[in-house]
Amino acid sequence: MIRLEYKNPDGTSESIDAELRELKGQDKVKGAFLSFLAFIALACVSVFIPVAHFILVPLFFGLALYFAYSAFQHTLEVGEFVFTCPSCNHKITSKKQRVKEALKLHCPNCRHQVYIRAVG
Ligand SMILES: [Zn+2]
Repeated sequence: MIRLEYKNPDGTSESIDAELRELKGQDKVKGAFLSFLAFIALACVSVFIPVAHFILVPLFFGLALYFAYSAFQHTLEVGEFVFTCPSCNHKITSKKQRVKEALKLHCPNCRHQVYIRAVG
């Protein structure tokens, strides 16, 4: 079973209660394809912008490839969760997102950076 945990400044680790879903082949391909399509659509729209299309079309095509590859690397879908900052005890809310193996969050109160890893 996969769970999320983070390390406190004193070295102890705590787990986070969040809804997790492991992404399999079809989910990964679907996410990569949707990301690719979004940037290809932007490239198609930018064809009609005079002069700027010489830069925008190759840029959006490159971004489509980059973000599709990046989306394909995601292995875990993490649901929305709330946890307490280990540095200042401020409540931090994380939205639903897809991650590769670690989630990096910043505390809005003290700017402390928290690495949340998937274990298991
Ligand atoms: Zn904090």
